Amino acid sequence: MYASHPPGNGDYTLPPSAPPIHGVQGCEPCSNLVAELRHAVQGSDPSAEVDARVKIRRHMIQAHGTEIPFFAG
Ligand SMILES: [Zn+2]
Repeated sequence: MYASHPPGNGDYTLPPSAPPIHGVQGCEPCSNLVAELRHAVQGSDPSAEVDARVKIRRHMIQAHGTEIPFFAG
């Protein structure tokens, strides 16, 4: 389980200066996933946030052929 270590030591918050993730305009899965990520961040739910980031990354690669940094806010 190499991916079992969540970032932030349980007290993870986005740096305020981090640029937000923007989904691809007009792509419904993108806007749903970004909304999910925002919800997790605002709810201070690190595990849900990591989950959302993983899903966004996978969607971006599979649907748009775009690799985004895992921690691009
Ligand atoms: Zn998309």
